[in-house]
This record gives sequence, structure tokens and C-alpha cells, in this order.
Amino acid sequence: MTKAVAQTFPLAPNVARMRTSATLAAMQKALALRAAGADVVDLGAGEPDFDTPEHIKRAAVEALRQGKTKYTETGGTRALQEAIVNYYARAFGTQYDFKEVMATAGGKQAIFNAVVSLAGPGDEVLIARPYWVSFPEMVTFAGATPVVIDTEESGFHLTADEVARAATPRTKLIIINSPSNPAGRVIPPAEFQRILEVCAERDIYAISDECYLHFVYEPARVFSAASLAPELRARLCIAGSFSKTYAMTGWRMGYALAPAQWIAAMLKVQGHATSNPNSVAQYAATEALNTAQDCVADMLAEYARRRAWLIKALADIPGFRCFEPEGAFYAFPDVRGCLRGAVRTSGAFAEKLVDDEQTVVTDGAGFGAEGFIRISYATSLERLQEGVRRIRRVAERLS
Ligand code: PLP
Repeated sequence: MTKAVAQTFPLAPNVARMRTSATLAAMQKALALRAAGADVVDLGAGEPDFDTPEHIKRAAVEALRQGKTKYTETGGTRALQEAIVNYYARAFGTQYDFKEVMATAGGKQAIFNAVVSLAGPGDEVLIARPYWVSFPEMVTFAGATPVVIDTEESGFHLTADEVARAATPRTKLIIINSPSNPAGRVIPPAEFQRILEVCAERDIYAISDECYLHFVYEPARVFSAASLAPELRARLCIAGSFSKTYAMTGWRMGYALAPAQWIAAMLKVQGHATSNPNSVAQYAATEALNTAQDCVADMLAEYARRRAWLIKALADIPGFRCFEPEGAFYAFPDVRGCLRGAVRTSGAFAEKLVDDEQTVVTDGAGFGAEGFIRISYATSLERLQEGVRRIRRVAERLS
């Protein structure tokens, strides 16, 4: 006799506790509306509107022609590892060894590998609020406890003092993200150093998620934690990504730089999960790092132009308060001044934008910041201007 299927599917407790991604939900909403024929303005997407640069695509085509379609080493080809190590040496004066580097399927897999290799039941992991949606879920998956540091008082700039106050003897790890998603905040280098000094004093490991590394705006400067003194890097994992820098979101390429023992554990995780990153994409990524970086500068210049327009325009919308982000490609306005009547939350405000004006933004609540919305300017200035006109109409109707 067969057993009746349990009425609720018997998920593993750690997975049952995980929440689905709020940013993916916004993307799906935009897709559904567009499929129904609506003129959607999508300011929800966290991905560049640029195509992958031609020379990078050509490297992948060439790799295909040469039959580079087999498994590779778990941590990526030697050529890619060399390209990563050399790139960091040129850009930040570092001297990473091959035992301290691995390629991954997107920056996401680098962070995932790093979290699950270190954190487990009984451990606390510090995350600054507002946080990228996947940070707490990865920690939950690992069976550890996410501990959220509220940074609203410091204008969403994580500080060493905040880290010191939140740390306990159970704190194993901190995940730092600068420039940050969703707030676009950049931690100044001196403050970053102080944060890692606190970590060194308390024996806390750190992941520096540098997904938006290159997207910073004057007077802020590109800064990688990799350039800090060796004693501060002894507990540090850099998680990097090709997705935003080279407009390569779909290729799924990222990397990690960390102490050899941490990388060895991450290779174990990756080896049993995905074996290796996509072989053809590795050739594209190698080309991206080994050639001139003009394409990155061009994209940055265009983001800077959009950002300058957007921040000014948002300041003019009734009920909106928007600080000027130093990095990434998001604005993160406080919309609490627009919340009234049936529209009581930023989620309801975002829904009203979709229902009344077919405009998609991301609700801040998914990032732990109820009352805020994330507006991506990784879309053309024309669409951005149309989107802001629509947002303005909704805000005016509410005020
Ligand atoms: N970290 C942050 C803060 C992000 O916003 C993203 C993507 O949106 C990632 C990491 C991961 O990017 P990917 O896996 O595409 O490299």
C-alpha cells in the first residue's frame, strides 16, 4: 500500500524559512504586464540595459568554435584565475595567490559559497539594513541567524561603531556591500578599514560584496577592500561579479578572492553543487578582464548622466525625500510622505504605480526598509523620464 502524500510538502526547515526574492517578484510583474500588451516602464530591474560589449561576445563565439564546451576546473580555468589575480594586482596593487581565487557562477554563488562554508547553527551573521534581499536568506539557508544592523540613523552608511555595537561573542561573519544595493551607499575607505579593524579585534570574518565596485560617482572613488593591509584581509572574502560591470547578467560569472582555506571549502561546496562555472562564459570573462576597460567607463558616464537628472527630478516630487547615492545604479527615495488613505505602505504605493500607471519599481520592504522604494536607472533616460512623470502623477494624486 502506498502512503498518502503529506498535505503540506515536507520541506527542510531551513528552506521553509527562506523567503522568495522581492526583486524577482517585481521583474515578473513587469513581464506579465508587457505580455498583456501594456506600455510598461520598468524601473524595477537590477540589470544594465546595455548589451554585453562586442569584444567579450566575440571571445565566447571563438571559444565555442574551438570546442571549449567541456567541464573545466571547479574554480575556473587557470587563464581566468590568472586574469582575476592580475586585474586586482593592476587595479589595487594586490598579490593574490592561485590558491586564493576561484571563479563562480555569478557573484551570487561566490557569496553563497562563502556564507555556507563558514556560518552554521549557533552563529550570528551581521547584515546592514537596508540589505540586498539574498543576504538574510543565504544565512537562513546555512542554519545561522541573520542579525540586522539598522543604518537609518547614519543615512544608510554602515559605520564601524554600528558594527561594534551589534557584534556578540556568537558573531561569526559580516556581509558588507559597498556600493550598496538598494541604497547606492559607498562606505568611505577609512571607515571600511575601521570596520575590518573591529572584525579583526573580535575574530569576525567578512564578505565584501563588490558587485557594483566600479559604479561610483565623483567625488567617491573606486575602492576594493582587497587593497587593505594583509592583517585585515586574513578574514576577508571579496565576492566579485561580471554581471553589472560588463553588462553580463545572463552569463552568470563571478569570482571570490579569500584566504586559501576558505577558498578550499568554497571549492568543495561549488564542486558538489554546480561543478564549475559555464565554460564558454569563462572565456568571455577572461577577455573582459584582460582588455581595455573603456566599455566600463562608457557605461559609468551614461549612468552618471541619468543619476544627475533623476536625483533632481525626485527631489521635486511631492511627498518624496531622496538622498544622493554615491554608487550603484539605484535611487532609494523615502515615500512615507505619500502614504495616506488605502496606500499605507511602500508596497501599496508600488502596487498603485503598477495598477494606475503601469510603472514598476521595487518595494523597499523586501530590503528591510518599509517606506522606501528602489528606482533603477539602468534604463534609458527617455524611459526614466517617462517613468518619473508617471510616478509624479501618482504622488500628486495622493498628496
Ligand atoms: N550582490 C548584489 C548587491 C547584487 O545586487 C547582485 C545582483 O543583483 C549580486 C550580488 C549578484 O549578482 P550576480 O550573481 O549576477 O553576479
